[in-house]
Amino acid sequence: MTSRKTPASVTPTCPEHGLCVWQEGDERLCALEYLNRFVAPRRVEQLVRRGRHLFLVFDSGEKLECCCEHCGESHGDDPGFTEDIKEISLGRRALRFRLEGDGGHLVVWFARGDHLHLHRNSLLRFRPPRPRRSIRPTHTPTEEKEKTG
Ligand SMILES: [Zn+2]
Ligand SMILES: [Zn+2]
Repeated sequence: MTSRKTPASVTPTCPEHGLCVWQEGDERLCALEYLNRFVAPRRVEQLVRRGRHLFLVFDSGEKLECCCEHCGESHGDDPGFTEDIKEISLGRRALRFRLEGDGGHLVVWFARGDHLHLHRNSLLRFRPPRPRRSIRPTHTPTEEKEKTG
């Protein structure tokens, strides 16, 4: 067997789920790990539509696209699709995220055993919010503030 060298530009994926991983602090996390670690048990604050794309927006700021279990696309232009998702998720806490059905589906668990079935694409398209920056503005005092004009 010939081993192919992986170019440095290729995004690394996690062996367990085959999802992109990124650096979070000093750890490498995939989308699923990130959701379970940092998003659960956050509340779904709103549903947002961008064109046909429909997203759950958590009160922590993360957005998760609602990709249809069957075709992998989101149907923000379909009122029925939107209504079903809204009914189960809006204002409720997502307790757990799991990949099921040979890893093809993402299942979001809410309280009382309710769950929402989505497509794996929801994870593939998930991006963590921009890293939070902590800034302490430096102020250099000037000597000449007593200038009179
Ligand atoms: Zn993973
Ligand atoms: Zn569909």
